Amino acid sequence: MPSTTITPALSPLELAAVTAAMSRARTGTAAPVGPDPHLQRGSDDVLAWVERVLRCRLRLSSFGRPTAIHTEPDRVHPLLPGGQYYRAAVLTIPCQGRALNFLATYDERRRLVFDLVDRCPHCRQPVPTEEINCFEDLGDYLLQARDALGGSPRFRRSSAHETACPARGN
Ligand SMILES: [Zn+2]
Repeated sequence: MPSTTITPALSPLELAAVTAAMSRARTGTAAPVGPDPHLQRGSDDVLAWVERVLRCRLRLSSFGRPTAIHTEPDRVHPLLPGGQYYRAAVLTIPCQGRALNFLATYDERRRLVFDLVDRCPHCRQPVPTEEINCFEDLGDYLLQARDALGGSPRFRRSSAHETACPARGN
């Protein structure tokens, strides 16, 4: 019996992201993403808030099954461009023996952004590779449709690259 499965290794979450990306490519529109949850000043844990924002952007509550996310401060990247004191957050979604890793930082417009962390093609260090703003972006990434995404602005300036890495910008 011929198999219709192109990528049998994808987890249900990844498969749903790929399906959403193909739907966006076909129709030109993505499913709406609600407004980001607010940080409750004084009573809210910042890492828990960052995790809630990622859940919202990826519409994980509509996925139909609980999705575990492990969130902790990042050891390498600052929270703000050029910052020194506050650390970025790294969010890990376990996925069938692998993991999807996201780096949460603020961009120049002070907007919380999520980058998928992957190995640098040159120095093999884990660096922010692709900005993921919605579930469809994640699907494009998994489909290797990177031309549609354009790469993360934080890829070149990541201090996680090896010192001599040619991808490292000044
Ligand atoms: Zn590198």
